[in-house]
Amino acid sequence: MLRNKVPFLFLFAALHLLIFTDGVAQTPKQIRTIVVDAGHGGSKDPGATGQYENSLRSLEKDVTLAIALKLVDELKKQIPGVRVVPTRTTDIYQSPTEKAKIANEFKGDLFLCIHADSGPLKQGKRQVGERTVTRYKISYKGKGKRKKKIKTPYESIEPVYEYFKMPLTRKGTSVWIFAAHKTSAKLQAIMDGDENFEIEANGIDSVETSLDFRTPEGRTIAAIYAKRYQERSDRLATMVNEEVENTGRQALGVNQRQKGIWVLQATNMPAILIETGFINNPEDELYINSEKGQQELAEAITEAVKRYKAQVESTNNLTPQPAVTGDKKNTEPAPVYETRAIKDSKTIQVKNNKIKVDFYDDGDIDNDIVSVYFNTNLLVDKKTLTANAHSLTLTIEPGKTNELILFAENLGNIPPNTALMVITDGTSRHEIRLSADLKNNASIRFELKNNN
Ligand SMILES: [Zn+2]
Repeated sequence: MLRNKVPFLFLFAALHLLIFTDGVAQTPKQIRTIVVDAGHGGSKDPGATGQYENSLRSLEKDVTLAIALKLVDELKKQIPGVRVVPTRTTDIYQSPTEKAKIANEFKGDLFLCIHADSGPLKQGKRQVGERTVTRYKISYKGKGKRKKKIKTPYESIEPVYEYFKMPLTRKGTSVWIFAAHKTSAKLQAIMDGDENFEIEANGIDSVETSLDFRTPEGRTIAAIYAKRYQERSDRLATMVNEEVENTGRQALGVNQRQKGIWVLQATNMPAILIETGFINNPEDELYINSEKGQQELAEAITEAVKRYKAQVESTNNLTPQPAVTGDKKNTEPAPVYETRAIKDSKTIQVKNNKIKVDFYDDGDIDNDIVSVYFNTNLLVDKKTLTANAHSLTLTIEPGKTNELILFAENLGNIPPNTALMVITDGTSRHEIRLSADLKNNASIRFELKNNN
C-alpha cells in the first residue's frame, strides 16, 4: 500500500538538508520539540488489520492514532515546556514523505513513530459436521465380451470442514531504529526462524526501493544519520524497551533495519518506531485497542522520553574535565580511558544495587584484550576475553552515573574489540554487546530503578 518510491528530488532535498545543516544542529542541547507520528492514516492507508477469526477487525491507523493522542497528552502533562507536535490528530492520509517533512519543518529533537505489527496468517481447518454422500462401488460380472460393469450405490458419511484464519502466536512490543541490520535475540526467537519476517511483513511500513544504500546518495545519508543520531536513537529505543518491559508486557528488544523505515531515515533527528503490538494476535489486539493498554503504552514511552531527556541534558551540562592528576594518588596518572571518546554507550535500568557482570568475547575468540573501569576505578586490568566469563560484582548507587567503561587494549585478530556482557540483576538478565577500538571506548550506564 505504501510502497511509494521516494521521488529522487525529495531524496536530494533530504540529503541537502542533512549536509547543509551540519554543524548548526549537531546534537540538540535540549529536547524542546517532540514529534509524535500516528502511523498510517486515511482510507488510502489503513495499515495492518485484525484478520484472524473472531478478530476485532481493528485497523492499525485507528490504534496508532488513539495511542499517539494519549502519548501527546502524557508528554505535555509530564514534560511541561516541551512542544509536542502530532503529525496528525484525525484520520487523514499522509505519505511517509509528508510525515518526515512535518518532523523536519518543526525542527523536532525527537521523532516517535507509533505503529502496530502484523504478520502473514496461516489457514486453519476444522471439522464442523458430517454429511452423507452417495458413492458407487464398481464391480464386474461375466467374462470376455459379456463382461459387464456394475455400479452399486452406497452411502458414505464424510466430514465437513471449515477454513479459517489462525491468529498469530507472536506478541509483544518491539522498537526499531534505522541502522545496520540487527534483530534482537528475543524477536528472532519468536519468529521461529522465519527469515522473511520484517516489520509488518506485508510491507506496509516498508519502502524497499526508496533508498538504495549502494548509491553514493544513500551511503551519504546513512553515514550522516548513523554518525549523528544512531547512538541517541538506540539509547532512547533501549529505554522504551525497558519501560515496556516494566509494565509486564513482552518486550522484544531494540531492532535495526537499514531498509524500509523511511520516516526514520529521512528525519533530521533521533527517531524510533514502536511496533506497539501484533494486531493479529488476539491478546495484543485487545490490548492495543483498550483504554488501559493504550494509556499504559503512552505512559511507558513518556517515562522513557523523560529519562532520555534528563540524560541528554545532563550530559550537555558537563564541562569537559581536564585530565585529573592531583586529586588521586600522587603517583597515579589520569585514567588512560579518558584519552578516548565513548562511542558505544548503553543505559540499562537495574532493580538491585548489587549486580553481577560476566563478560566474554563476543563471536569469534580472537584474543581481544580489555581493561574495565567502573566509576573511574580500574576493575579489570588487561585481560584476554574468552568464552569463559570474567565476573564482576558492581554496587550501583542511586542518582549516580554508575558507568562501566570497556577499554580496548588491542583490536584482537578481528577488529573491533567486542565483548558480550551478561548482567544479572536479581532474577533479571540482560545481554549487552559492546565494541571498542583504539580510538573509542564503549560504556554501560546503570540506573537504579526506584521501587516506590
Ligand atoms: Zn505500521
